[in-house]
Amino acid sequence: MSDAVRFPDPNTEIETIPLEIDRLRRSFENGRTRPLEWRREQLKRLIRMHEIHADEFVGALQADFGKPTFEAFTSDVSQGKLEAKSALKNLKKWTRPERVGGLPVMGRARVIREPLGVVLIISPWNYPVGLLLSPLAGAIAAGNAVVLKPSEVTPHVSAVLAKRLPEYMDPEAITLVEGGVEETTVLLEQRFDHIFYTGNGQVAQVVMEAAAKNLTPVTLELGGKSPCIVHEDADIETAARRIAWGKFVNAGQTCIAPDYVLVHESREEALVTALGKAVRDFYGDNPKNTADYARIVNRRHHERLATLMKDGTPAFGGEVDDDQCYVAPTVLRDADDESSLMRDEIFGPILPVRKVRNIDEAVQFVNSREKPLALYLFTKDGKVEDDVLSRTSSGGACVNGTLFHIMDSRLPFGGVGSSGTGAYHGRHTFETFSHRKSVLTRGTRFDPKIMYPPYGEKLTKFVKRFM
Ligand code: NAD
Repeated sequence: MSDAVRFPDPNTEIETIPLEIDRLRRSFENGRTRPLEWRREQLKRLIRMHEIHADEFVGALQADFGKPTFEAFTSDVSQGKLEAKSALKNLKKWTRPERVGGLPVMGRARVIREPLGVVLIISPWNYPVGLLLSPLAGAIAAGNAVVLKPSEVTPHVSAVLAKRLPEYMDPEAITLVEGGVEETTVLLEQRFDHIFYTGNGQVAQVVMEAAAKNLTPVTLELGGKSPCIVHEDADIETAARRIAWGKFVNAGQTCIAPDYVLVHESREEALVTALGKAVRDFYGDNPKNTADYARIVNRRHHERLATLMKDGTPAFGGEVDDDQCYVAPTVLRDADDESSLMRDEIFGPILPVRKVRNIDEAVQFVNSREKPLALYLFTKDGKVEDDVLSRTSSGGACVNGTLFHIMDSRLPFGGVGSSGTGAYHGRHTFETFSHRKSVLTRGTRFDPKIMYPPYGEKLTKFVKRFM
């Protein structure tokens, strides 16, 4: 057994996980989490925890994988706070029964959002604060009791979460279980009312299988190979800067990072040159020396990337430093379409660039693979934009940019097919953790006997005119 700390009692043993879930279920069934006042209070506390301990989280992210301060704060530590603020501001609106128009004779029709119950949130290591606490904000707003399972791959962050959350959140309804496969396996044996999992596809199968036993609904936020298509009319300088930024932020360890580039053959040389310039502008001549470039999370992933590097010819980059788990921002050419580099999610700072003759070839290439989490297209032509969007399927898409679509919380964020099931962010997170209950309240004054058996021919004839 791992020496994981569990909240609320650090000495809790793995065997007590089922009791812990039972305790939460009792809280939920007693109605503890339903009042809007409870939800508001928890959201406020979550915001306060972010405000007071932001630097501690940033420090933990640096200890775990050298995440640059700016990136740690903007792309990870602030995310849960922004979601909690938005939920707090909109709670009344989101929870208001939704009136539905229709025939008044039927009665008063409305949709009520009700909490699901006890929900489990399992998160990964690449944005280990935000990917745990953003869904938490929506789950609280929807009135659920919540079990949180952070990633063991980033132990410093996990320890800060285990220490700080119980100081702020209601321990009768929100609990955190640290640990790895062993703890998650025990958790998945319990009955939940929803499981929200972010991570890789193989573990998603384990999660889905466990959920199926209790018919528990799941949200699966997964990954895949997100393509970048650069059309011949693209503004190459801007495209290169935006692709390089989206790829090398967090050293490529981003679920929606551009995985590979399909560029029109006439612009390949210019694009690769511009990518090289963008990387020098961002990180200087030796990115190892800048504080603005992260490290690979652990040796296993570092070695995986060092091996993938061999699948292509470096146009620039290519250096690895095993001691520091450093992989340089790298652009590769000449990778075989069937190589691991072009088949598996790269999840690191290696960008293969492949020439295509035209948009049709790019679309065909994308469609010959699993549906990606994001698709990026660089073009000035609205017709090309419509054409590519209508002929490909991806979780989301961003035209003339990378990653930015995830920052707009009006947009649901999620995958399709093997890149995920369900979506969240902003109101969509609240909806994910709510059941939409349809309710019809009928009047009692109007109750014609003709509607009841025996029906008679007259009624049948009358009804046939409308149906
Ligand atoms: P990870 O190794 O931290 O695993 C994720 C979670 O699954 C952890 O909490 C871990 O404890 C648990 N887990 C691992 N093995 C398990 C098992 N056998 N049984 C039960 N639980 C288990 O993170 P990861 O999966 O390496 O994360 C990277 C992947 O996540 C990439 O594919 C990336 O694209 C994807 N991702 C997706 C999103 C998104 O929002 N769609 C965001 C971030 C990462």
